[in-house]
Amino acid sequence: MLEKRSFYINGSWVNSKEQKDIEVINPATEKACAVISLGSKTDINDAVLAAKEAFKTWGYSTKEDRIALLETFYSLYKKRWNDITDAIIQEMGAPKDFASKLQTGTGASHTKSFIKYLKEFEFEKPLGDHAKNQRILYEPKGVCALITPWNWPMNQVCLKVIPALASGCTMILKPSELAPLSAMVLAELIDEAKFPNGVFNLVNGDGATTGDALTSHPDVNMISFTGSTRAGSLISQNAAKDFKRVSLELGGKGANIIFKDADNEAVERGALRCFRNSGQSCNAPTRMLVEKSMYSEAIERLKKYANEFKVDDPNKEGEHIGPVISHTQFNKIQSLIQKGIDEGAKLIAGGPGKPDGLSNGYYVKPTVFADVNNNMEIARTEIFGPVLSVIPFENEEEAIEIANDTEYGLTNYIQSQDSEKVKRLARKLRSGMVDVNGAGIAVDAPFGGFKHSGIGREAGKEGLLEFLEVKSVGGWN
Ligand code: NAD
Repeated sequence: MLEKRSFYINGSWVNSKEQKDIEVINPATEKACAVISLGSKTDINDAVLAAKEAFKTWGYSTKEDRIALLETFYSLYKKRWNDITDAIIQEMGAPKDFASKLQTGTGASHTKSFIKYLKEFEFEKPLGDHAKNQRILYEPKGVCALITPWNWPMNQVCLKVIPALASGCTMILKPSELAPLSAMVLAELIDEAKFPNGVFNLVNGDGATTGDALTSHPDVNMISFTGSTRAGSLISQNAAKDFKRVSLELGGKGANIIFKDADNEAVERGALRCFRNSGQSCNAPTRMLVEKSMYSEAIERLKKYANEFKVDDPNKEGEHIGPVISHTQFNKIQSLIQKGIDEGAKLIAGGPGKPDGLSNGYYVKPTVFADVNNNMEIARTEIFGPVLSVIPFENEEEAIEIANDTEYGLTNYIQSQDSEKVKRLARKLRSGMVDVNGAGIAVDAPFGGFKHSGIGREAGKEGLLEFLEVKSVGGWN
């Protein structure tokens, strides 16, 4: 078992001030793979103090210095690719190929993209030709609390740490206590790249103690959080007391609207996007809305696809899905599957219990419910497991109404060959992202949601702007 008890504070690996340990459970074996410490208020105070001190110089560092350090970091990241991937496999059960290509891969893509935007970004510019003595300055927000979840651990950490570093902020990262190992490899890379002491700090811990101490600390200027809507609301309340800047990336319940004129792969592609990462993605299209004239054909195809969909050990190569993160999450998914049955939705694939031959590990059967009504709990709650709800619709207007009838607004999906219809819908869907015919959302496109899906945007130029304050100076000659 890995001993990972220390925290990275002010450029050194240090012991927790109050020794309180928890085990990191490998969801494929249900056994501990590492032990970490839970940070106390004192540990958080030490880390915030280090970040506050470091900001005095890092906050005024040159763009060129930051680019050079980030480029060193990026080349180290590529060298440690397999270590990051192994950590992700162990901590959250993502299968080998998926963990390497997508989980570790997106961390690399975001890093590369932020370096590009940093190179292009003008931190000082005139307001315009009409007002040449008016200057707009973009300045780092200061000490940032970065809190991340377990489902895309390295992607989410890089979406926060890299733009924070690029903008000149200093930071305290608190990764998920369920999946902290890949973030600890990242801390080693920051150390090796030789960022100045205190610029980046990592304290492990839970939400109730460590997370709360961090988000209520008076010297924290900004909070960037990804996770549940519940925690997002608590964090916002802490932030409101002293007007901390807040960026929240929360849940989703995406609709995938499949019209009769969709391409031939649309139904299977939609199910794959729902099941991928064992359904643990905030942008998963978990409600499939199908035009009535092709509904029965779609149901037959989904039944076949889901029943043949492979679930297996994450250490094996291949395109299967692995377990879900934890016993708690497994139980939550099981009770929501049972709820779907009790509510009268028609179970056409999967269902309660574990897949055959996988009794050890938190494995869930890829599950599809047909004849779902948008008022049912399975259509409203973010299940965060491989569970798809299929809802029939009559026409375009009804599809839009059902898709928008949710508290969330992260990603919606449209499948149709009619480009005018697609544009009409893309404009009317109340979500931060709309993905058409499997095109995907670019790595540097703004990522974030409407409504309860969050506040602010991550990735690319918008993601960099999240970490910057805007200052207007008049009389700049
Ligand atoms: P969570 O929100 O409880 O945890 C995410 C992170 O926030 C962790 O680092 C956790 O320690 C921290 N945290 C929790 N409470 C906090 C608080 N009060 N103050 C500060 N930090 C706090 O998520 P979870 O319990 O791991 O998952 C529960 C549900 O959240 C899932 O079922 C899913 O619906 C949703 N979720 C969404 C995303 C997403 O990407 N949008 C990611 C993870 C979980």
